[in-house]
Amino acid sequence: MANNLRRIWDTDPASKPTPRQFSDDFVGRFRSGRLVGKLPESLNAWRVTTGDPVVAEEIARLMGGAAEEWDTDKEDNLEILTDAPSVEIVIESSDKIDASMKLFGSTGIIHHCDGVEHLSPEDEKGEPCGCPELLQDRKDKARSGRGPKPSIDVVFKLAAAPELGRFRFNSGSWELVKVLHEVISAVDDYDGPVRATLAIENVSYTTKGGRDVSYNKPVIKVLGAYEVTVPMADAA
Ligand SMILES: [Zn+2]
Repeated sequence: MANNLRRIWDTDPASKPTPRQFSDDFVGRFRSGRLVGKLPESLNAWRVTTGDPVVAEEIARLMGGAAEEWDTDKEDNLEILTDAPSVEIVIESSDKIDASMKLFGSTGIIHHCDGVEHLSPEDEKGEPCGCPELLQDRKDKARSGRGPKPSIDVVFKLAAAPELGRFRFNSGSWELVKVLHEVISAVDDYDGPVRATLAIENVSYTTKGGRDVSYNKPVIKVLGAYEVTVPMADAA
């Protein structure tokens, strides 16, 4: 069959679609929550999403659960509600941990900072961003939709199956923010990749006023150097 449209971009090459790009170089995402209807639900075990059936099978084998389709317009259309609250991971370096503060509006990101200075857009970079100094004030402002929330990205491989490729975990947890500098410095204690656990932990207590508080938080704990016995499959 002749492709009679092959010259359609000759006059407008800028509009020619590029080959489908997979979002970065990770094969799936670890998530500590999901939406039930419109309500966010936090989970007690990892939920993994991927577009790759082979990865999905392996996750189910290693962490429990079964691969199922879920309602998304993204490419990671398979989800596994695993039984595992904790998983051993490999973090290649502290460059694989990225954190900033972000506020999204209807047109995209409208405030992007490190808590003190703007990180983007380029012409505002380095200028004071006007966020409150105190953590509680930042939280209050974020909760009311007027201030940015943490956005922490961790890219890692599974210690049990590094050949699967890289996964990503994005968190908006203030609890993780509080200890992130310790995690990064623990990773930096080693020259090469480290073994760590990525866990969902439950925190429960009763306040002085008698109110029961219970929430989940993600915890990253560095265990030590990752001993490479066979060469790690590199970014393919
Ligand atoms: Zn700010």
